Amino acid sequence: MTLPGAPWLHRRGRTLYLEDVALDALARTHGTPLYVYSRAAMRDAARRYERALAGRSHLLCYAMKANSNLAVLQTLAAEGCGFDIVSAGELERVLAAGAPASRVVFSGVGKTRAEMVRALQAGVRCFNVESLAELDRLDDVARALGTRAPVSVRVNPDVDARTHPYISTGLRDNKFGVVHDEALAVYRRAAELPGIDVRGIDCHIGSQITELAPYLDALDRVLDLVEAVEAEGIALHHLDLGGGLGITYTDEQPPAADALVRALLERIDARGHGARELLLEPGRSIVGNAGVLLTEVQYLKPGAHKNFCIVDAAMNDLVRPAMYEAWMGIVPCVERDGTPSVWDVVGPVCESGDWLGRDRALAVAPGDVLAVLSAGAYGMVMASNYNTRARAAEVMVDAGRAHVVRDRETTTQLFAGEHLLPD
Ligand SMILES: *Cc1c(COP(=O)(O)O)cnc(C)c1O
Repeated sequence: MTLPGAPWLHRRGRTLYLEDVALDALARTHGTPLYVYSRAAMRDAARRYERALAGRSHLLCYAMKANSNLAVLQTLAAEGCGFDIVSAGELERVLAAGAPASRVVFSGVGKTRAEMVRALQAGVRCFNVESLAELDRLDDVARALGTRAPVSVRVNPDVDARTHPYISTGLRDNKFGVVHDEALAVYRRAAELPGIDVRGIDCHIGSQITELAPYLDALDRVLDLVEAVEAEGIALHHLDLGGGLGITYTDEQPPAADALVRALLERIDARGHGARELLLEPGRSIVGNAGVLLTEVQYLKPGAHKNFCIVDAAMNDLVRPAMYEAWMGIVPCVERDGTPSVWDVVGPVCESGDWLGRDRALAVAPGDVLAVLSAGAYGMVMASNYNTRARAAEVMVDAGRAHVVRDRETTTQLFAGEHLLPD
């Protein structure tokens, strides 16, 4: 079987490698749970988008909430990427990674005044505004600073991305964006506000999307609005079509990034909008298959109805299975002889929802290291300290070398900010 993450993730004999680094040995050196990323894999994913966009005015804004480690940002900044952020904290990460704020777009439904001030002072490229109330606040903040805020309105095109309900964002009943029917009124208001500089239009319909059709439907709805807005004399410089392209976890067959870009450009050209700058905000499709989570088998607990394989990674390290019932591949780092049994791979956290994979055929023994595949996106960034568990370390492999890009948290760090009461 081809592994998701190939060719960077591959086997030599029985041993699993990421690029030229044996994962079992890496787990022994750095301990588990351990996130490991391939720098070549994320570069390649970004280049697939970049190649398809070549010759067009564009900015690929990596949606950094998928994986915001500074070394990941540094790698993508060097590829020419900008960043889609959803908090002031993410902006500080971009700046710490050495990338300019002029390549940042700021999304999210709940921007605070303090976040607006920081983003305006840093000089972000655009705010993706998600409501009339937010627009008014941003105008107020910008005028107080004696400046104008560059703005796109995030419109909700009311198309079904046909993905998990928790990661679908483009339907009328989602909290995201301005509903299509009200978008024109929001643009009219934006054009009148002295602290607002209308720059473009934005949409983002969901995540783990595996078909082209929802993108093209959303694009058509967005272009209808562009035409209506410009008919009123309000110029829109750029189109931001969001992110959301899916990856292969098991048998999904999402379109390739270049096929998606080509289809979008074709439709944009066919409707006469080819001169407009294009922004995209991919997250998962840049980093998802560039990473794995390594975990060591602690105990085997066979039972009458279920066999449990208890590992040292848990829902606090990787929440996707518990939160979305997401299926993620789980394979041994060194294959062993013996007939596989069927196991539920579970963590030590005190919740029945703490599982990483159910009904997996594996030949395993305590002490073996397993790799949870496709863990580069929405893995470490969603980790918590539930059960007072320190968060995992992160390693980036690059040209045959392994670099620790985040130290394992220590237990004392976990309660360093807490205080005992005076007696
Ligand atoms: C999460 C998010 C993205 C990226 O989604 P992926 O599915 O990871 O590509 C892009 N834009 C916005 C506004 C988002 O919230």
